[in-house]
Amino acid sequence: KQLTSAEIRDLFLTFYKDKGHDVRPSASLIPVNDPTLLWINSGVATLKKYFDGTETPENPRITNSQKSIRTNDIENVGVTARHHTLFEMLGNFSIGDYFKEEAIEWAWEFLTGEKWLAFDPEKLFVTYYPEDTETKELWEAIPNFDNSHLVPVEDNFWDIGAGPCGPDTEIFYDRGESYNNLAEDDPENYPGGENERWLEIWNLVFSEFNHMPDDTYVPLPHKNVDTGMGLERLVSVIQDTPTNFETDLFMPIIEKIETLTDGIKYSESNEGKVSFKVIADHIRAVAFAISDGALPSNEGRGYIIRRLIRRSVMHGRRLGITTLFLSDLVPTITEIMGDYYAELNEKLDFVQSIIKNEEERFHETIGDGELQLENILAQLTEEGKTVVAGAQAFQLYDTFGFPLELTEEMALENNFTVDNDGFEVEMEKQRERARAARSTEESMSVQSEALQGVTTEFEFVGHSQLSSNATIKA
Ligand code: ATP
Ligand code: MG
Ligand code: MG
Ligand code: MG
Repeated sequence: KQLTSAEIRDLFLTFYKDKGHDVRPSASLIPVNDPTLLWINSGVATLKKYFDGTETPENPRITNSQKSIRTNDIENVGVTARHHTLFEMLGNFSIGDYFKEEAIEWAWEFLTGEKWLAFDPEKLFVTYYPEDTETKELWEAIPNFDNSHLVPVEDNFWDIGAGPCGPDTEIFYDRGESYNNLAEDDPENYPGGENERWLEIWNLVFSEFNHMPDDTYVPLPHKNVDTGMGLERLVSVIQDTPTNFETDLFMPIIEKIETLTDGIKYSESNEGKVSFKVIADHIRAVAFAISDGALPSNEGRGYIIRRLIRRSVMHGRRLGITTLFLSDLVPTITEIMGDYYAELNEKLDFVQSIIKNEEERFHETIGDGELQLENILAQLTEEGKTVVAGAQAFQLYDTFGFPLELTEEMALENNFTVDNDGFEVEMEKQRERARAARSTEESMSVQSEALQGVTTEFEFVGHSQLSSNATIKA
């Protein structure tokens, strides 16, 4: 019998519990006392206080499954097999306790041990930092590890420019030739590169240096281990699905979306597949974020939620869904993950009502934009023109929140075209203005104010001041 995602999560935590780790529940997605971070984006992000020595945990060994959001991967969703906006990161941590040897041996035992995942060792590839010969030798010392599967990779050094840092070693699963998505001679065609044949599942980070202000690296007195493994990726390997989306973590959401379309089937659709994936991904992120207290707005976290909802609505339209539908997907998420993340169950009604409200507003926006565009098209007809100017399309987008995609769609229906290059030029000017106008701190404090006054309505006033998100580390 195939393992379920819940069983796999559980197996991981049990394994590390047996190795003396405290099992911690996932922390909130909203960082505490950390203005550098918009969202919790990894297991270690919530444990920084131990890694930098601010606090000492009772037990130096910790394990968790941490919900994480990475906005830098939003555009990857549905395009790659492996990226999500929200994902669960399985991790084990040593705060000045065990180091490389145990970290590597245990990772191997969990992945290949008969009692655990029992992966075929021949499927596993490992990258390491070339100068980190210690790690290389530890891998080579593992009895059933194939040494020809060890790949030195220059990038394998975790360093954010200051403080604890060090080499990492990453584990890849060979999904087989049929997953090759790059040419033989592509420079990225190696385990550790961008070829989806070798799926990155686990990163083991060894923080052993302190990156000093004068750019020297001094050995740390206490060496730490921080690992992260994407649950969705692990489940896709175990359940042998083409992408993360056909696993039991996503398929019920996709099936629910199918029932809301006019008979479109995920398995039979080509272009539509991406839309199913994007919606299933985004609604998860939105539901979790709102249940942790973030709300749609025009700033910071709230803007991310708003953007995810709007992208989902747009992808729904591509599947022919024009009614309100997003909040109907939330109970399915609760069914899949509510046992482990109780907050989802507790906040279900609230989450649904926020999503519904936001989706409704976007529908109004679309309606208003359509009226504006009709006027523009009528005027262009009078002037004998057939091209919607970039500035006009941009104004619709910027002032009314009317997506370019809809402008193009409607223009086409009426035998007009849109000057997309002109739109891009306006967009770039906008970004420049935003960069100049706002610092990360300002945007964060505005966000916390926005979080305090959440009971009132959210008015979409346009994207004008929003591009500052780009400067926030996500
Ligand atoms: P990738 O190269 O595939 O983008 P990464 O190197 O950015 O992954 P890490 O920062 O090393 O990822 O995070 C540790 C683990 O978390 C990864 O090995 C992967 O299993 C998982 N992970 C990272 N980003 C995502 C994501 N966007 N969606 C799902 N899982 C992810
Ligand atoms: Mg990445
Ligand atoms: Mg990577
Ligand atoms: Mg990595």
